[in-house]
Amino acid sequence: MAAFVVPCVGGVGAAAAAARRGRPAGASARRPLRVPAPAGAAAAAGRRRAMVPTATAAASAGGSPAAASADAVAPAGPRTHTITLLPGDGIGEEIMAATVDVLDAVAARFDLTLSMSSALMGGAAIDATGEPLPAATLDACRASDAVLLACIGGYKWDDLPRASRPETGLLALRKQLGLFANLRPAKAFAQLEGASSLKDEVVNGVDLMVVRELTGGVYFGTPKGIDTDPATGARVGYSNMVYHDYEVQRIARVALDIAMKRGKSLVSVDKANVLEVSQLWREEVIKAAADYPEVALSHMYVDNAAMQLVRWPKQFDVMVTGNLFGDVLSDCASMLVGSLGMLPSASLGDGSGPGVFEPVHGSAPDIAGTDAANPVACVLSAAMMLRYALGEFPAADAVEAAVEAVLDAGWRTGDIMSEGKTLVGCKRMGELIVDAVSAGGK
Ligand code: NAD
Repeated sequence: MAAFVVPCVGGVGAAAAAARRGRPAGASARRPLRVPAPAGAAAAAGRRRAMVPTATAAASAGGSPAAASADAVAPAGPRTHTITLLPGDGIGEEIMAATVDVLDAVAARFDLTLSMSSALMGGAAIDATGEPLPAATLDACRASDAVLLACIGGYKWDDLPRASRPETGLLALRKQLGLFANLRPAKAFAQLEGASSLKDEVVNGVDLMVVRELTGGVYFGTPKGIDTDPATGARVGYSNMVYHDYEVQRIARVALDIAMKRGKSLVSVDKANVLEVSQLWREEVIKAAADYPEVALSHMYVDNAAMQLVRWPKQFDVMVTGNLFGDVLSDCASMLVGSLGMLPSASLGDGSGPGVFEPVHGSAPDIAGTDAANPVACVLSAAMMLRYALGEFPAADAVEAAVEAVLDAGWRTGDIMSEGKTLVGCKRMGELIVDAVSAGGK
């Protein structure tokens, strides 16, 4: 097991629990970031813009309901945080290495001690131990303040039985840590105009949050299996979409809390015209919303929601939906931004254990080992971790501002490349973000 220990100063201090309680709003001191402009790049210097950590922006970036209101006030005194890193498979090692360097830089700038240890997960864990989620990895995660996961999976393990595939390890990690809420922000970056496959007027200004239930629904419901129908001899496959009232209530309240921090608008997505489980979903969401009279709640069938997401996504503020529908819709929403390589996510539980912060994308085996991966989704996931798990709000702001500054200066990985910009690889992109983080505070 490889181990990273980030060299930085500080002692014991505020950790996840403090962040979950939220912090008083306050202003963060921002300084302009200095990023080297790529030779020949279009003039971008005048457009440097940092993400402002308003409550709206915080929630839009994927915050927990408790933490979303917390603006940039650093906990007092030196602080230590324990982070388990799960590089996983494919491009995982590359994007994690870039992200660790960024965390290293931000720790040095903000006097944090980030104690980071890497553990095996996914295909790498299967190769080493025969299991996608070894007990030692789960123990390490449980003992951490937060978990940062890159990505898992790949062709090599595709033919294994379901129980021993990398994806099964990921589902088990979510289940074991009780991570029932997956928050996926989709915010269009002004610098990436033209990157989406949709027209600019459709995506410019998109800023929505998909809240997906993560530990219930058809991915976990029983009975499930592939059998032979005794009456006909035909093979039959079946899965079972099950939701209990309390599961719907808790995810609805997460979404309602986030809506309160944003535009106070929530669309619950279901298929209540066909599925009994969706009828229950809708009834429970309505019950939960009774405690949030300021939130405008509406309901949409999932087929319509998919269509509306590409027709006019700016109509959405917060969407809440079940596991299967959320899986599909959040990937669809992610393409509004232009690339999977730009999208972070957070998976959160009831606060009794660590959250898992991870890019939306998979292990991209087609580009693994070529230095072509975009590390930004992983870096922004680390920023979410700093904000929502560790309570390090200025550090989170600094990372996000550094990403924006690097984009402003015209640097691009292949997935977000456009005319007049400068192409860099994963490693160089990480170095540029490190430089911007370091320069921002000096
Ligand atoms: P994928 O997200 O890995 O890749 C889809 C496309 O996006 C590919 O063309 C890839 O090159 C590109 N891409 C993804 N991330 C990128 C990045 N950071 N920079 C540049 N380009 C990027 O999805 P897939 O190909 O369907 O799945 C590949 C493997 O990943 C499968 O084994 C799948 O099960 C697994 N997977 C894992 C996760 C996870 O770890 N959370 C999520 C989805 C898929």
